[in-house]
Amino acid sequence: MRPIQMVDLQRQYAKIKSEVNLAIQETLDSAAFINGPAVNNFAVNLSQYLGVKHVIPCANGTDALQISLMALELAPGDEVITPSFTYVATTEVIALLKLKPVFVEVDRRSFCIDPAAIEKAITPKTKAIVPVHLYGQSADMEAIMDIAKRHNLYVIEDNAQAIGARYTFSDNSVQKTGSIGTVGATSFFPSKNLGAYGDGGAIFTNDDELAARLKMIANHGQSKRYYHDIVGCNSRLDSIQAAILNIKLGRLDDYIAARNKAADHYDKAFAGNPKIAVPYRSANSSHAFHQYTLTLNGVDRNGLNEWLASRNIPSMIYYPVPAHRQKMFEAFGGQNFDLEITDWLTERVISLPIHTEMDEDQLAYITENVLSFINKTA
Ligand SMILES: *Cc1c(COP(=O)(O)O)cnc(C)c1O
Repeated sequence: MRPIQMVDLQRQYAKIKSEVNLAIQETLDSAAFINGPAVNNFAVNLSQYLGVKHVIPCANGTDALQISLMALELAPGDEVITPSFTYVATTEVIALLKLKPVFVEVDRRSFCIDPAAIEKAITPKTKAIVPVHLYGQSADMEAIMDIAKRHNLYVIEDNAQAIGARYTFSDNSVQKTGSIGTVGATSFFPSKNLGAYGDGGAIFTNDDELAARLKMIANHGQSKRYYHDIVGCNSRLDSIQAAILNIKLGRLDDYIAARNKAADHYDKAFAGNPKIAVPYRSANSSHAFHQYTLTLNGVDRNGLNEWLASRNIPSMIYYPVPAHRQKMFEAFGGQNFDLEITDWLTERVISLPIHTEMDEDQLAYITENVLSFINKTA
């Protein structure tokens, strides 16, 4: 059996090596390292894939979120509603821009922001909602967009974990995550479902004016070379990464299918076990399975993590500390938020290895060992 990793990028690369190496070599030969043709090609291909009008590539997913918020021209102190149960980047950029993060609960089953909690948190200062499609499945976007419309709020989708997931509305129309809100942000961090071989990110919108602002902000607020209209930043996707991403984008649906196959295997092995809740499958969203995350019930999580490690099986806690309990947010009153479900999940979730290259024998070995620990300690 091959060694088990949380994500196996070496084996994935091996399968596309000649194509990737050629694309890198072409970029080196052209010396168009910044804003070369690969960058625009990739943006066009990704906009077609997502069904969104504009794709603005940038340096990483955190920048994508930050630039999105910058483009909306919010005022210091404006409130932005966000889940606490997410990766730090989502909430950090809100604080960085001197906006006020308002942490709300997630749904216990879907791990995504709870629309009812959003509604309760709205005040006259609320300007935006940042739903996170955590672990690869869409948040309840129909309910979120409905709330946003009624209260005149922007929606910034954090799509870093769910690129390629499809959301179905009640009228049966389907949209890809990241293309539904005012603006969507994603990351091409190597371990993400569409990962580069370095850093990268992108911003999506269907709004022409907003797209122009986003582009300007990512490029020093520049409208014309050396004419700077607004304060921006410097955030670019480099040509080598774009060339690599172009190749991987063509395989993204296959990658997602491979992740789903592994998830199905896990689901079947754990079905009906009262001590393990397998990931909830929303009727409205396909799942990109960036992570396969169990919610344990009466299981010693550290014990399981150590037992698996002793059997050479990695497992991870995403995330061990929710945003509202991070020291970073003390000055923002993080500790004043009472988020029972978030705390509850934080103590119970554990993610198992999932990636595009998993073998049946690896999956069988993992499930056997998870179950043997759980049965042993029953
Ligand atoms: C990875 C990730 C980000 C940040 O992306 P970077 O490219 O690492 O800056 C933001 N939000 C979520 C939910 C993520 O998983």
